[in-house]
Amino acid sequence: MTSPTPKPPVDPVACLPTRLDAAMRAGIEARVQVLGRELLATSLAARPSVVSPDYWAEQAGEWVLADDELKVRLFRLVDCMPMLDDPAAVDRHLREYLDDEVLEKLPAMLRVALKAARSGLLAPFAARTVRAAMLAQAKRFIAGTTPAEAARAAVLERRRHRVFTLDLLGEAVTSDAEADAYAAAYARLLEELPAAAAAWPHDPLVDDGPAGPLPRVNVSLKLSALDSQFDSIDPAGTAERVLARLRPLWRLARANGAQVHVDMESHATKGLALAIFKTIAREDEFRDWPHCGVVVQCYLREAAHDLMHLAEWVRQRGTPIWVRLVKGAYWDYETTHAQAAGWPEPVWQEKWQTDACYEAATTFVMEHADLLRPALGSHNLRSLAHGMAVAEALGLDRRGVEMQMLYGMGDAEKEAVTAAGWRMRVYMPYGELVPGMAYLVRRLLENSSNDSFLRAGLVRQVPPERLLAPPRAAEPTAPAAPAAVWSAVFTNEPLADFAIATNREAFTHAVARARTACGTPALVPVVIGGERLEPADRFVRRDPSAHARTVAEVCAASPADAGRAVETARASLPAWQALGVHRRASILRAAAAIMRTRRFDLAALQVFEVGKPWREADADVAEAIDFCDFYAREAERLLAPRRVDVPGEENATTYLPRGVAVVIAPWNFPLAILCGMTTAALVTGNVVVMKPAEQSSLTGLRLFEILREAGVPAGALAFLPGRGEEVGPVLVSHPATAVVAFTGSRAVGLAINTRAAEASAAPGSRLIKKVIAELGGKNAILVDDDADLDEAVVGVVASAFGFQGQKCSACSRAIVLDHVHDAFLARLAGAVRSLRVGPAENPGTRIGPVVDQEARDRVHSFIEIGTRTAATVAAVDVAPLAQTGWFVGPHVFADVDPTGPLGQNEIFGPVLAILRARDFDHAIELANNTDYALTAGVYSRSPARLRQAAEHLAAGNIYLNRGITGALVNRQPFGGYRMSGIGSKAGGPEYLLQFMVPRTVTENTMRRGFAPPAPAGG
Ligand SMILES: Cc1cc2nc3c(=O)[nH]c(=O)nc-3n(C[C@H](O)[C@H](O)[C@H](O)COP(=O)(O)OP(=O)(O)OC[C@H]3O[C@@H](n4cnc5c(N)ncnc54)[C@H](O)[C@@H]3O)c2cc1C
Repeated sequence: MTSPTPKPPVDPVACLPTRLDAAMRAGIEARVQVLGRELLATSLAARPSVVSPDYWAEQAGEWVLADDELKVRLFRLVDCMPMLDDPAAVDRHLREYLDDEVLEKLPAMLRVALKAARSGLLAPFAARTVRAAMLAQAKRFIAGTTPAEAARAAVLERRRHRVFTLDLLGEAVTSDAEADAYAAAYARLLEELPAAAAAWPHDPLVDDGPAGPLPRVNVSLKLSALDSQFDSIDPAGTAERVLARLRPLWRLARANGAQVHVDMESHATKGLALAIFKTIAREDEFRDWPHCGVVVQCYLREAAHDLMHLAEWVRQRGTPIWVRLVKGAYWDYETTHAQAAGWPEPVWQEKWQTDACYEAATTFVMEHADLLRPALGSHNLRSLAHGMAVAEALGLDRRGVEMQMLYGMGDAEKEAVTAAGWRMRVYMPYGELVPGMAYLVRRLLENSSNDSFLRAGLVRQVPPERLLAPPRAAEPTAPAAPAAVWSAVFTNEPLADFAIATNREAFTHAVARARTACGTPALVPVVIGGERLEPADRFVRRDPSAHARTVAEVCAASPADAGRAVETARASLPAWQALGVHRRASILRAAAAIMRTRRFDLAALQVFEVGKPWREADADVAEAIDFCDFYAREAERLLAPRRVDVPGEENATTYLPRGVAVVIAPWNFPLAILCGMTTAALVTGNVVVMKPAEQSSLTGLRLFEILREAGVPAGALAFLPGRGEEVGPVLVSHPATAVVAFTGSRAVGLAINTRAAEASAAPGSRLIKKVIAELGGKNAILVDDDADLDEAVVGVVASAFGFQGQKCSACSRAIVLDHVHDAFLARLAGAVRSLRVGPAENPGTRIGPVVDQEARDRVHSFIEIGTRTAATVAAVDVAPLAQTGWFVGPHVFADVDPTGPLGQNEIFGPVLAILRARDFDHAIELANNTDYALTAGVYSRSPARLRQAAEHLAAGNIYLNRGITGALVNRQPFGGYRMSGIGSKAGGPEYLLQFMVPRTVTENTMRRGFAPPAPAGG
């Protein structure tokens, strides 16, 4: 695998070339100070007075922001407020978020008022008032609900000599229908507004560019809203779909004399958005059109690189574009997301770096103003003054440069910029409040950040010399913060970041190699005691996406082989145990290192052997690596002798391996689960007979080879592919088998348990076999009536249909509260119908095939029951694909009988049952009413209900406000109870104990009244 990310630049200034010499730079800095002070003075004069509600809003903000906990609670309360449409719900949320502890932190006046609001007859009235007040605050940032309202707000801006760019707020686009609706709304705007705009009086300050009048209508749009499957893993497919919706909009804009600007969102989609912009802007139809533009976010370390490429690209295009430089609105998200994923943060980590990068980018864009027309989107008067000074120094025509700010923020500053004679464009979002909440929370975060210029300048009144100081590293004042606690414990192997082109390319090559290898299908042998056996009894494994393709020919071990494998392993037990835990742990670490070097090849094999889509296959390999590293650490921790010595007596407790471990693994995590069970047994000193699933024997062989290469001796590990029903019983009941680690179906798990118990009780048996079994689930996600439906739809879809629903953790029931049932269902249905079904080797595939013919038939039988007994909400037809592979389209059924087969049985396929709940208690009751207790989840914004779910849901893994699959080693130890399994959680601190027996040695050290001193710390 290639390195996951290119090395990010370290110096935000030096990474962009400039023609300015030192003297010019000094002159510019002097001018920045003058312009900056002028801007500050004008804006301070124009700021809200103490009699203005805006002033009090700012002050209230300051009280809130003094306390992190309060800030989090208030933001969360604001976030869910628009969803709450009855006073009782508002009242309940107010009480939950603003409990007594929180209220004590507020200024006395506010505390008394809120306490009054929470009690007595006035409570419903007060709840309504608080909601209205909060929404009014939120609406400050939104220019209206409808295009007409937004247009009216735009006209008001023009009266203040400011122009606008309109942005339609939208919910996360989860379906093709929503993407169509988003495009249609823009089309309407571009059809209707330009005609009205033609009648507006001409304003030379804002309407004239250097080469004539500028478009009066200017829109900003987000490309991710033009495709429900917008994903960097599939640039070609995504671009095709986005362009199909984007071209008509550009045509309309061009024909009607409007301008279109492409916004930038997360770093994960930045490369794709830029590529799509460049594609359309170079198409014959648009390459001579100057009224288009794109955003560059200067908080990104890649900003300099992107700008230089953009300039070069425009040179080839031959017509300039607008470039809006912003710092970036997702700093907290990018930082948290990267840290949680174990990726390098794509954004600068110190504010001065972003500011410095912004200034370097400003200079660069202005030096290339013939190619990149500068638009500075910032509320930072230092940043803007710098831009003005550079423009002056380079002699740019002011009409070719513009300053931009957000609606509802920094109005005094807008006035200052306009008064200074520069064109000010206001970014005006409009639309419904519920889908607009993500935008609002970004604004709240920005306004409340300690690093915000607006807050420093206008609210905290930091002195001008500090506000206008050039960005540079602060003198270190305190020692660097200690490393975060979580990373000190265990660092998970990062998943591949498919937003990075080199990763996509490397994976594509690995897929090509795996496909070619299928041309001469590998033979999977039986290996016992290092001896390779190739019995004639064999079966063929086919690619589930294209069953004409053979992936492997698998030798089937016989029952006699099974017996021999156990005996040979037993003979190697003493030597393997004697190696000691540190040596065994180092072998696991070596195996992890080998897997890292073959990472994408191991994943690509799964693509063909079990039909796993790219991301899921990559995650499986990462998890296998985690198991090796984690169990190595855990074994060393557990096997350190525990001593409790007292004078005259020494006690040492340690662990012994159980003996021969039989590992019987499933195909759905073909590397990770096999690897986890095997390495757990090995590192604790057991010898192992490894039985891979029939469907994933070749992946099993690759793991076996890696473990051998890493140093596991031939005798300590046998590899026994074959038919479970033939070799399984022999392996389990063999008198030398001490432990069976199994993951798979409930029926087989229970049969193994019975057989192991019977064999333990058989005459001559000298041990009671230990069975560790991780079985199925009938997992539910609850959707509360205040849930964020954007997130709930995405989370349910990912949990129910990821790897075609073939995970024991998969969501197979969504239990939705009556109040939001229909709205949720409508969005879910659209999202499911929009999922791309196809061969697993295509990067854009969201739903691949199920694992084999038997699985397909079983899933079909449940679909047939659903069609007969429930309401079909989504039924995706896979007609042509079904000819060549084992495909089943995703299905969703509503009005499902909770006690019937769809409500109770594990389906292990892309079928989701929807249950309607009267209230939250009922939802929990429904969720718990199955034989299983594996995973469960809830989407809710009520702290009390989240607590209730955490306490009362019957599941081994409970997820709040996120999907329910993808447990990470150590972070989410995985496993359930009831019929979901016996044993403790994989990837958790107790897992290894199951493979060992504890033994305590006590020695009386007293001899005739004389005892050695107790060891220190004993
Ligand atoms: C017209 C317009 C259009 C916009 N379009 C987009 C867009 O398409 N995409 C987008 O992402 N944003 C967009 N924004 C939002 C913009 O990114 C934020 O408003 C802007 O970052 C705030 O920066 P500032 O210069 O106004 O304020 P400042 O207070 O000077 O800077 C705040 C910014 O600094 C950065 N920052 C904060 N803390 C740190 C830290 N510790 N280390 C490094 N950097 C830090 C963050 O980017 C933060 O937003 C747009 C803004 C405007 C005005």
